[in-house]
Parts: sequence; C-alpha cells; structure tokens
Amino acid sequence: MRSNRIITRKQSFDKDSLRLNETLFCNANGYIGVRGTLEEGVPDFFSTMRGMYLGGVYEIIPMKQAESLCNLIEKKQTMLNVADTQTIYLSVNGERFDMESTGADCERSLNMDEGYTERAFSWKDKNGKGYEAHIKRVAHFNCPNLFTIEYRVKALDSSADILFDSRHIADVKNYSDPNDPRLAAESEAYLTVEMCEMADNASIMIAKTKESGISIASAVGHRLCVSENGGALNEIALNKDELDLIRDGEVSGTFSLHIEKGQEAVLVKYTVFADSIREKAPKKRSAEILGEMMKKDISDLYRAQKEVLSDFWLRADMEIQGDDELDLAMCFNMYQLFQSSPRQEKVSIAAKGLSGEGYEGHYFWDTEMYALPFFVLTDTELAKKILAFRYETLEKARENAKLLGHKKGALYPWRTITGEECSGYFPSGTAAYHINGAISHAIISYYLATGDTEYLLKEGEEILLEIARLWLDTGNYDRDGKFVINEVTGPDEYTCMTDNNFYTNCCAAHGMKWAAKLFKELGDREEMKELAKRLSVDEEEIKKIQEAADKMYLPYDEKFGISPQDDSFLQKPVWDIANTPKEEFPLLLHYHPLHLYRYQVCKQADTVLAHFLYPDSADKETMEKSFRYYEKITTHDSSLSTCVFSMQASRLGLYDEAEKYFGDSAKLDLYNRHGNSGDGVHTANMGGAYMAIVYGFGGIGISEDGLNVDPFLPRSFQGYSFNFCYRGRRLRLAVSRESVSFKLLDGENVVFMQGGEKHSLCKAGDTYKWNLKQ
Ligand code: BGC
Repeated sequence: MRSNRIITRKQSFDKDSLRLNETLFCNANGYIGVRGTLEEGVPDFFSTMRGMYLGGVYEIIPMKQAESLCNLIEKKQTMLNVADTQTIYLSVNGERFDMESTGADCERSLNMDEGYTERAFSWKDKNGKGYEAHIKRVAHFNCPNLFTIEYRVKALDSSADILFDSRHIADVKNYSDPNDPRLAAESEAYLTVEMCEMADNASIMIAKTKESGISIASAVGHRLCVSENGGALNEIALNKDELDLIRDGEVSGTFSLHIEKGQEAVLVKYTVFADSIREKAPKKRSAEILGEMMKKDISDLYRAQKEVLSDFWLRADMEIQGDDELDLAMCFNMYQLFQSSPRQEKVSIAAKGLSGEGYEGHYFWDTEMYALPFFVLTDTELAKKILAFRYETLEKARENAKLLGHKKGALYPWRTITGEECSGYFPSGTAAYHINGAISHAIISYYLATGDTEYLLKEGEEILLEIARLWLDTGNYDRDGKFVINEVTGPDEYTCMTDNNFYTNCCAAHGMKWAAKLFKELGDREEMKELAKRLSVDEEEIKKIQEAADKMYLPYDEKFGISPQDDSFLQKPVWDIANTPKEEFPLLLHYHPLHLYRYQVCKQADTVLAHFLYPDSADKETMEKSFRYYEKITTHDSSLSTCVFSMQASRLGLYDEAEKYFGDSAKLDLYNRHGNSGDGVHTANMGGAYMAIVYGFGGIGISEDGLNVDPFLPRSFQGYSFNFCYRGRRLRLAVSRESVSFKLLDGENVVFMQGGEKHSLCKAGDTYKWNLKQ
C-alpha cells in the first residue's frame, strides 16, 4: 500500500528557494491559481512573483512589430495578476512578525490526498516566549470560485495579544523580466479598481481591464476564532468597524484577540472571485457565493476537498517501488496537472498551469499533445472539457486561417488565451502549423480511448474537417504526384520554416485520414448530414482529403537510412554539442535564431515524436537509426523532449536508453532542474513523464485495433503499478520483478492484446498474469 502523498520541505529564508517554493506550493483548482507566496511578504530585494490568477481571464496588450508587414499580429493577450488577498500581517504583543528577523523555523507541505498546502513555523519573541503558527491554504475544487486561508497562531509559553491585519488589494501589477523571452517584458498595472464596498465585514472590489473590458469581482470575508489545543473553533463575533479603506483599491481588516497560554487564535479568510466572462453580474455573484460558503463550516469544505481527491486518486493512482523520490514526484506531477485543468468553459491548460506567469498564461500544443493523454486515461470528463476549448474557439481558428491567406479551413493559434494568435515571432510561432496536428491527434486519441461518438458528432468531427481542409489548402502536389507541405515549422524550434517537416506531414496525413474516415463511418447519422450541409462538405472534398493523406510525402534519406527532419535538414552542418560550453545552454538564450536554423541541432524531439505517434510512418530499422541519429544532435533545451526519447526507446526495446532519457525528467520541477521552475511548473513535461511511464515502460497502446499491453521493468525500479480508464472501465497494471498482473477494477468485458495474443477480463476483479519480458 502506498504511503501518504505529502511533500514536505524546510523553507530556508533565501532568495532562490523562496521563488521555487512559490511555484511548488501553489494552490489551484483550474479557475483560481495562487502562488505560494508568504502572507507577510518579503523584503524588497527578494525576487518574488506574488500572484493570484484566474484561468482564461486576460488583458489585451499591444505587441508592436518593428516592421509592420501584412497581417502580422500587433496585439496579444496576457494572463492577469488579479487582486492580492494573500496578504495577512501578524503581530504578537505589538511586534510585527516576519520570517527574516524572527529567524523562524519553517516547514512547508503539500498534502495531495486532501488538497491543501500548509506552512508551519515556530519562533521566540524578544522575551524568549515561544509561538507556533500553521497556515493552511485551499483552492476548492467543489467551488472553483473559492480560495481560503486558515491562519492559526498558538501561544506556547504565556498569554498573548494577537493581531491579524488582513489585506484585500485590488490594485496590483503583473510580473515581468525583460531579459527572459519566456516571460513578459513589460510590467503594467492592467486593472483599474472601479468599486470598493464594505458590508457585513466583507469587502468587495471590482477591477476592470481597459482593452479586454473584463470585470473581476473579488469578495473577501473573515471569521475569527479561538481554539483550545487544536480542538473545536469557538467563533468570536466581529466588530462592525474592523474593515478600513487604507488607500484606493486596498482594504485592511484588523482582527485582534487575547489568547491564554496553550490557546490558538484562528483567522479564516475566504476569497471569492467571479468574472464577467462567465457571470452577468460578477459582483452580485461573488457576494452570493461568499455568503453561501461562509455559512459552511470550514471542516466541511475540507472534507469535500478530500473527497474530490480520493476520487481522483482512485482513477489516477500510480506507485513506483524502489524510488520513493520518483514516486512522490509522479504524484506531484499528476496533482499539478489536475490542479491546472479547466472546470469551466472558455479556458484550457496553460504551459505553466496556474502556477506562475511564465509564457504569460498561454495555451500551446503542450495541452493536447502532452497533458491531455493523462486526462484521457484518468478523467474523461476533464479530457472532454479540455477539448471543448478548441471547439469554443473554432471560429477564431477559421479567422486566423483567413488572416494567413487560406481560403478554407481552420488554423489554431500557436499560443493563445482567447483563441486569437499571441505569438509575435511567426517563424517559431504561427508557422508551427503542427498545433493543428496536435489537436486532431488529441480528438482521435480521446475517441479511441472512450468510444465517445456523440462527442465526434457534436464537436470533434467539425474540428477534424476544418483542420483537414487547412492541410489541403496549405499543401500541394509536387511533380511526382506527392502531397507536400512547405514553409512550416515543426516541433524543433531550432529549425524553422522548412519544407516537408516529417512530423508535420505525418500528423497532417493522420488527421486527414481520420476526418475522411469518420465522415464516411458516421455518414448515416442525422448530425453528420446536418454538419455536412452546414460546412458544405461533399463526397468530392472528402475524396480529396483522403487522397492527400494517401499521397503524403514523407522524406526518407537513403544514405543514412533515416527519416530526415525536413527536406534541407541533412544538408546543414552538424552543431558541435560536445564542445559547446555548458553555460551556453539553452542555446536560444545565447545565439541568434537564424544562426541556429543553419545547423543540424534540435531543441527537442521532432521526428522521434512522429515515429512514436505514427508507428506506420517508417519501418523499425529506420526508426532505430533515426533515434540514434537524432539523439546525437538534440540538446533537450525544451522540457518537452526527453520524455519523447524515453517513450520511443521503450517502443524500440532500447530499455536502458528508455530509462536514461526518463532520468530525472519527472523531478524537473521539484528539484528545479531547468532553473526556471520559479516562473511556474512545466505542465507538458509532467504529462510527458506520465506518458513515458504509461505508454513507455507500461507499453499501453490504444489504437484502432484496441488496447495493447506490453510492459517492461526499468532496472532501477523494483516494481510499478498504475490505474487507468479505458472505454468506461477502470484497470490496474502492476509490474514486479517476478510477474505482471493486469486487473479489471470496475466494469466488465475488456479485451486486450498481450504478446500478440488476445485476452479478456470479464468482470471486476478478474486478473490476467504473465511473466515479465526481459
Ligand atoms: C517549446 C515548445 C512549447 C513551449 C511552451 C517551448 O520552449 O519549444 O514546444 O510549446 O515551450 O511550453
């Protein structure tokens, strides 16, 4: 049985760990994201990204192009830092507490079984009297608008006067770093505080953005209590005048009480956010929700939070035996993915989830290609919500295609919040048409794993058809009658604007094949007839789509026996990675992009990913040679890379390499391996580590032929097991040194392939066992 999923760390009061811990101990629920900053703040010279974010809430800001060429993007969306309701100053007997001067001993923890973070610290005042504090934070899954902080202070040696000064600050700025292209260059106050109201000991503020015109209401309420030795909370009635407007957009609530030795003073702070994208009257709604939530006992809210997580782990549980650090890191990754996933409309999973401002809260192909597989296998409802975003923004993708000169089809933006393109540098942005491939691939994978035809009829097939049309409009037939796609950028961002990027051509062919196939297979359904009429798709067009897929050109190099990344890739000199000084990585921060484009050097997996996703795109020998070729010239400067090499090595039976590439990738954020986790977690890598275990080591494959299970055990593991969902059933694969067992946990009749043979599990509890392949 697994132990508790709890991560605990000492919080030393140094600059570096502070910023990292803000990310690691963030609380999110898909709507609200709160970085784990310290309630009392830090000295000015500390680098802190003090932020609270709302999924899908943004401002539109100018992005001036130096040369205004036709149809280049001149504005972008950026995720907003909304009202700061984290700030609580504590004074004990008139002394203001801060970590630095009190030298407090501090431990932080993340409880992933119950869904909260905690900061615990103890210190002595100048008279040598001791105190203890526990601060518990929760972004509630059952009520995504709600975030709570429970602040407990205990007097250990004598009675004490406690004062909480709790702030509600709507006048805030976004974070920026002009020296890092992965962060916003400009720091602006994007919000104007329009209204501040105080009633019944709650403060409500409305702040509005200028360009996007979004109103955000934040409502804050408090409860003050005393508790004896951690027991029940005895509430203390609040005075009418505890709230005070101390400047425009900032309210301070001062709550004071006297406690005896051994007693605890407890302040519970409730924050409710509502925005005008989702609510007609955000102010009213925020007040209503706050009222409803404050009526509940906080312990009931915690219980509800725990239930959501118990249910989640039932579907997503994974255990790695023999490496406790890795085991916990994988729990952390899955938890972060769960925290980042949307529970409302018009929002998706950002590259950094809701844990920081890196990449300005934009959604990339990371969501569909790297994060979605986790949800497809653990929470199909969330997977559907994630896919829904692309349907909600389909019209914008059609407009984007027009902007790019296409007559037909939809081109999804490379990075976005609203569905409009936000990438200012088109060679490694808009030109990455493979975003379309990630979306069609995700729809097809979701369908294969769930059998959800209703989704296809309502949303999926429309997207597939519009993506297929886009490919048809982008490519053309060459002199040999092959369908070619020119001037696009594949996943590897150190090689841009090339002809016939192998990966792009593979995903285009796959998307087109399925668009045509499903159109025919579901052709008798009324919904499909209606769709065909609405989109004016006819047999003729479907034939063209099918033909382009069949005739797709996939480059092959006779001399090396590999799939070249694109038409000109192998003509370029090979970058000398071995002799490049360590401090020059990632190369993108040290070399002009054009310089990089002229070399064979890959930032991340490209052709190797194509080979993994599309097993028919080359024969085994070509894939093996390609793997060996690309591993020499890939820097893995992107965190989306090593997991792919690991998965493909597993597929090729290169087990040592699979393990080597998996390496520490699962621990990337927990141990800050890329040095930038302080800006937010690497969501795609988290999903990638999951895939490397489930698809790679576990050998789980879901295709048109059904479910295939073909695991191996990495040398450094003693064993591993995980639960996953397939076509409405819950299954568990457990691999140990001795054997493999595959068990049906819920549901009935699952047919799967193992070692080339068909097997079935008929009822819950049925288990099939076999010996491990060596
Ligand atoms: C990677 C992209 C990725 C983006 C956001 C870049 O560094 O090259 O593939 O989509 O980061 O994570």
